Amino acid sequence: MDGDASQAVALVTGAGRGIGLGIARALGLAGMKVALADLDGDSVARSAAELRAEGCEAWDVPLDVTEAEGWARVLAALAGRWGGLDVLVNNAGISPRGTAESTDEALWERTLAVNLKGPWLGIKAALPLLRRRPGTIVNIGSTRATRPMPGLFPYVVSKAGLFGLTQQVAVEYLEAGITCNMVAPGWVDTPGERLIQAEHGRPDFPAGLRNLTTADEVGAAVAFLASPAGRKINGIILYIDAGLHIADEATMVYLGKSNVWGGGSRA
Ligand code: NDP
Repeated sequence: MDGDASQAVALVTGAGRGIGLGIARALGLAGMKVALADLDGDSVARSAAELRAEGCEAWDVPLDVTEAEGWARVLAALAGRWGGLDVLVNNAGISPRGTAESTDEALWERTLAVNLKGPWLGIKAALPLLRRRPGTIVNIGSTRATRPMPGLFPYVVSKAGLFGLTQQVAVEYLEAGITCNMVAPGWVDTPGERLIQAEHGRPDFPAGLRNLTTADEVGAAVAFLASPAGRKINGIILYIDAGLHIADEATMVYLGKSNVWGGGSRA
């Protein structure tokens, strides 16, 4: 086993870029050993090297969160390398656009596979390790889990489902001392969000958006939940959205007319 056994161990999915990288950085700078997992092995290797250069203990591993075999492989390797797991962060996610009508079955299945089945498979595979510490789980949801928006049909359904999953896991493993919470960002300027916004008529994203949140701020929230001070918090949504969930129309600018629901601009 590598390194200091008293150091906490975290695993973050979708950590090759964006919010996942911000979370991995926050946990690494808080003194944890961090495993960065991502579909894209090259990007996650670069990100882990970046964190090591910043003084963090970081290891990269390819993982498709929708595959149970992948989870088993990664967790076995992690246990062999660092002896266990204290913090599982289910961050990997996709945010395709579509209404209830325009979403086809393939898009529905892909979105729910990555955003909802992936976290479940990860939790299921990680529980034997989490029980031993006991550890904590943080699922990365979205303000849209509780404040829907036209044109985000499969995404909103998946993130609302993820909140149900969060509460269910919190209650099922309460006695085991494992906590499970959801951190819900609002708008975050990430490579993935830029790509999808450009596809749907906002190549200048995040121009004009107020109340943007950074990946590092989301990381700080996760690091708090994972710290001793955060371990009395269980089964909640922690919004990191600068008030988007209570002040939606008043403070935010939306996608334009070219968007999939075809209605007027909500800007
Ligand atoms: P990005 O697309 O920038 O990064 C997501 C990362 O996850 C990518 O590296 C991607 O890999 C990886 N990934 C995608 N599918 C899988 C998979 N099946 N298995 C493993 N890794 C995968 O996204 P964000 O950083 O913007 O979002 C991260 C999370 O935050 C998501 O859950 C998202 O829903 C949530 N969120 C984001 C908001 C925002 O405004 N950005 C707002 C609210 C919530 P690859 O590059 O190969 O596709």
